[in-house]
Amino acid sequence: MTQALKSVELSPKLATKSGRPLSIGVGTGTKVKDLKRADASNSESIIQTLKLALDSGFFHVDTAECYTTHPEVAEALKRSSKKREDLFVVTKYIPPGNVFFEQKSTGAHNFVDLALEELGTDYLDAVLLHHPFFKPDIKPDLETAWKDLIEAKKLGKVRHIGVSNFRVEDLKTISKISAIETDNNASYQPAINQIEFHPYLQEQSPGIVKYCQENNILVEAYGPLTPLFRVKEEEKDHPLSGLLPELSAKYDRTPAQILLRYTLQKGILPITTSSKEERIRQSLEVFDFSIDQADVDKIDSVGSTYKLRTFFIGQF
Ligand code: NDP
Repeated sequence: MTQALKSVELSPKLATKSGRPLSIGVGTGTKVKDLKRADASNSESIIQTLKLALDSGFFHVDTAECYTTHPEVAEALKRSSKKREDLFVVTKYIPPGNVFFEQKSTGAHNFVDLALEELGTDYLDAVLLHHPFFKPDIKPDLETAWKDLIEAKKLGKVRHIGVSNFRVEDLKTISKISAIETDNNASYQPAINQIEFHPYLQEQSPGIVKYCQENNILVEAYGPLTPLFRVKEEEKDHPLSGLLPELSAKYDRTPAQILLRYTLQKGILPITTSSKEERIRQSLEVFDFSIDQADVDKIDSVGSTYKLRTFFIGQF
């Protein structure tokens, strides 16, 4: 099976340190039972699932300070036979003021140092600011946090700096900071914006996908399989409930593979996860077929008749 993104254009072309083009990411956030870590009962299962994903061919790993999964990621990386330079390890810094987990870091720069230690690595492939919703009365503010990431990149601790859940106006704010702080060095512009994306939420915020794609910011999709399992029981006849099985039969792929391939053909890189070996394997088998443009357009238009936002509901 080839890992080349057949007829899929991703921009910018990010890669592992060894030069392998970035591919679908495996997430470690939505399987955590207790973000407070008072009971890390599913710790071993997170390690094993991630190890399975790495052994199956995933090499892009997504974690975050608030998932509290750095120790599990470190352990899975240790147990896997993959070389560090062939991996793309991403973590996210969450602005302070969140009550649902105990934040160890005192700022974004300090977070990078802690993450390096917890993940058992001497560099991170990317660090993202988890969201732009900084509280006005708590430090650091957005500007300070972004400057900290610029500094961490200058020091070689981080290869790429980026964001998650950012709106166009937030991206413009940090782009200006990067330009001023680095004398217009383009490599310090945000490289990634990881957002909720699926046919039922094609714009997490107005114009965000277009803006990112026009400004060399890779859009990553979390929740790409949302239409398959997050629609409420009473709404099971949602618009894609007919089209996905139809396309699944036409292309001889699972509905999940159709959604992942659809996301890639939109120029967006999915971050997915599964606890099941078969699904983990299938989610990588999306590079040897393509969906006709007319069917991509159909998913877009049918999907746009229904709205489903699962994360950051109060913020947008
Ligand atoms: P997905 O949309 O890929 O959903 C994954 C879920 O889909 C799993 O629970 C899995 O369950 C289920 N699934 C997998 N395959 C299938 C299938 N064939 N049919 C039906 N269900 C299936 O991604 P997530 O929303 O879970 O997010 C992925 C990652 O993105 C997170 O782990 C996290 O790292 C990141 N994320 C980032 C956020 C941010 O704010 N930046 C917010 C949310 C997530 P099963 O185990 O049973 O297969």
